[in-house]
Amino acid sequence: METLIPLMPAAGLAAPQIGISCSIFIFSYDRDPAHLEIVINPTFVPIGEKKIVGWEGCFSTILVSGVRKVALVPRYEKIAVAYWTLDGVLVDRVLEGFAAKVFQHEYDHLRGMTNIYRDDAEVKEFATHEELNQFMVEVKKEDSKRYLSPKRGS
Ligand SMILES: [Zn+2]
Repeated sequence: METLIPLMPAAGLAAPQIGISCSIFIFSYDRDPAHLEIVINPTFVPIGEKKIVGWEGCFSTILVSGVRKVALVPRYEKIAVAYWTLDGVLVDRVLEGFAAKVFQHEYDHLRGMTNIYRDDAEVKEFATHEELNQFMVEVKKEDSKRYLSPKRGS
């Protein structure tokens, strides 16, 4: 985890993105590093069918590959997740809003999928990194309306 945390650009990062072949990612439900959680061997099931469409940037695409693309991706609004902590505790929670979006984005990475390659994604490319960064400022503002703290699962 010492390797993952300093690299964390935004809200989440999966081990395979930095060449570690483990089913592990870290994420924060509100982009605050104080709320980072280490997620090991995660699974999730949607609660309801409702999906929210939102723009997503990605560490692998933008920072590693230098590709100025973001993806508009539908994600389940509310999910029940289960994962292990570093201390071997099984966590059972309900995530919604931004937390659910990030969890699903990072979960994709564990399956070898990056958002811009999803069949259901609409991809937008920017001419310059400045334009991309400006766009992402707006995306983060929009995301911040949906920062909902994880709830205990049933
Ligand atoms: Zn990503």
